Amino acid sequence: MNYNVNENGFYGRFGGAYIPEILYANVEKLRTSYLTIMNDPSFVEELNGYMRDYVGRPSPLYYAARLSEKYGAKIYLKREDLNHTGAHKINNALGQILLARRLGKTRIIAETGAGQHGVATATVCALMDMPCVVYMGKLDVQRQSLNVRKMEMLGATVVPVTSGNMTLKDATNEAIRDWCSNPHDTHYIIGSTVGPHPYPDMVARFQSVISEEIKVQMMTHEGRDYPDYLIACVGGGSNAAGAFYHYLNDERVKLVEAEAGGLGVDTDQTAATIVCGREGILHGCRSLVMQSEDGQIIEPYSISAGLDYPGVGPIHANMAKEGRALVLAVNDEEALDAAFELTRMEGIIPALESAHALAVLGKMKFKKDDVVVLNLSGRGDKDMDTYISHAEGRM
Ligand SMILES: *Cc1c(COP(=O)(O)O)cnc(C)c1O
Repeated sequence: MNYNVNENGFYGRFGGAYIPEILYANVEKLRTSYLTIMNDPSFVEELNGYMRDYVGRPSPLYYAARLSEKYGAKIYLKREDLNHTGAHKINNALGQILLARRLGKTRIIAETGAGQHGVATATVCALMDMPCVVYMGKLDVQRQSLNVRKMEMLGATVVPVTSGNMTLKDATNEAIRDWCSNPHDTHYIIGSTVGPHPYPDMVARFQSVISEEIKVQMMTHEGRDYPDYLIACVGGGSNAAGAFYHYLNDERVKLVEAEAGGLGVDTDQTAATIVCGREGILHGCRSLVMQSEDGQIIEPYSISAGLDYPGVGPIHANMAKEGRALVLAVNDEEALDAAFELTRMEGIIPALESAHALAVLGKMKFKKDDVVVLNLSGRGDKDMDTYISHAEGRM
């Protein structure tokens, strides 16, 4: 079994490029050139230079002694929280803007939900001196005002979207509309392993630096280049795809994904797309989608703004269907408990998204010698208001 994308842009039955005619030339240009550009030695050198000196890579692989003691395994944290802008999203934003420049693009657009991808994109646009328009649901603009301020300070134009539920799905629709109107000069930086081919594969490759580093760091720590378990949270699936990438076809490594269960998968307040979704097409690709009987998108819910997307990357839909990855839904309360636990046991305040992955530790049966690598996708600064309002009984 091979879990990478095939030559037609599919992962099993998932993926593809379902796009309006007007975008065909653009997506086709991207499809035929992304691998050539990404493999060009001068591109690799340029990207690696920024990854090292600007993002701060490699991110450390930290042996968490107290967590290991508690859960009865050797637990390592891959510290994506220490990257510039506080999460893994910068890896992809940086890669895509450098690629867009080589394609001759002069304008960048992006969608954002919680604002993390918007901030990462606005950051690299400031760095590269390129105009940046970020589409964001009006409700999210109100909920995430600090990130809106950051994007504006970085020079981006934030456009509040008032259609639909005024959240991420609607912002994505609006970004696609902008791209249709400006197909020649504009590159759309999609923030996760979603969208039409080649985006899911391109984003996974830009994030694959995470597992490339894990291989080297495992060798140093354990004398072998693979762990027994890899754990990551999944919204659209980019941090998980990056952490898994070089182990996708290595069945010695068990892959575990945490979805946002919200108030529970048996309620309608959930974002567990793989567990609850049905096959459908969203934003240009075939995947699992949260939808009603008649195909209306169901607004997902999670306490974590970065995990409440109604779709999921096709690579993950396929791995779940084939049994390659174990997918667990983690509810709000479990994630909150895990966030406070990591903070008190290791002195690291995680992002709420990453806390979903941490909550998996308590759901697994490890053997004492098992080596576990958990991708700590981001830091918790942005979630402090939520943590403060849920601190009672947890401190
Ligand atoms: C956006 C975000 C996620 C979810 O996105 P993926 O594409 O699934 O990785 C997870 N963690 C953090 C910290 C994020 O900002």
